Amino acid sequence: MNFKPPTQQEALQAIGKLNSLPRKLQRALDPGNDFMLMGQPKDGDWLVEYKEAGQTLAEFKNSNPIKPNGVRNKIYLQPLGRFTEGQSPSLDMLKAYVEAFFALEANILPAIAIGKSTLSHRRNPYTGNRQISTRDILILLKRTRLPDAFCTLAITMEDLYPHPYWNFVFGQASLRDRVGVFSFARYDPKFYGEDRTKDYQKLLLQRSCKVLVHETGHIFTVAHCIFFKCVMNGSNHLQESDARPQFLCPVCLRKLQHCIGFDVVERYRNLFHFYQQAGFDAEAKWVSKRLKWILDKQHGRCVFLVG
Ligand SMILES: [Zn+2]
Ligand SMILES: [Zn+2]
Repeated sequence: MNFKPPTQQEALQAIGKLNSLPRKLQRALDPGNDFMLMGQPKDGDWLVEYKEAGQTLAEFKNSNPIKPNGVRNKIYLQPLGRFTEGQSPSLDMLKAYVEAFFALEANILPAIAIGKSTLSHRRNPYTGNRQISTRDILILLKRTRLPDAFCTLAITMEDLYPHPYWNFVFGQASLRDRVGVFSFARYDPKFYGEDRTKDYQKLLLQRSCKVLVHETGHIFTVAHCIFFKCVMNGSNHLQESDARPQFLCPVCLRKLQHCIGFDVVERYRNLFHFYQQAGFDAEAKWVSKRLKWILDKQHGRCVFLVG
């Protein structure tokens, strides 16, 4: 059956009732005019290729989501191979983004040199590029995971493969083990033999930030979003990934807030500073508008509120 875009009512129901929440949180979860409903996908898009029913807040809560606790509450980033300045996203910026986005402490582990590791690798039969086995990486991450890690995420500029029969994979995660690995190799135009554009560094950072929080979102048991345009939307190709916003829609924001318990205003303020620092002007502008909406004391009950 083809994907049927959600109605406004269905999207609001997915967010759940807001009446019993503190006012600031109610406002942050009220879409207002700042979010777009998911529309009809085009040929080749994720929702044409993969049938997804979506995950409402109630379904998310029923799935017993994994939450950080007093012991396991840090996000570790494990660089695999080189992150050469000028050709890779800045590790410090990725760490800063993860910290602002999830409101949890993030740490960068010492890099693992591919050549000195025991990770299986091969040459891709089509591109001739070196590829590392995700299976081996996930086993290594699980074995070396620190006791205070909520999750450990390996990040790499190397290309990946999950199985000898597969061509490649962007990334892979094990929710049960709270580990994942994600490659930024295919976000570089050079990978496809194209020239790097002037704004290449910013584009690579934007793409890397987006995939990192999307995949980390999955580790928090947040499924793909089908209700609004959202960073948790599935993506089947680079153009679709680029069209996804950097931010969470109210359904997915509520899931993450439920797990982590952050202050929504403080989180948006930290994201605003990050976007400003990174030169992500459109995102900074959007967060600033959203903060005004949340903090607007003049505003009464909104027509979008459910319940
Ligand atoms: Zn995904
Ligand atoms: Zn969403």
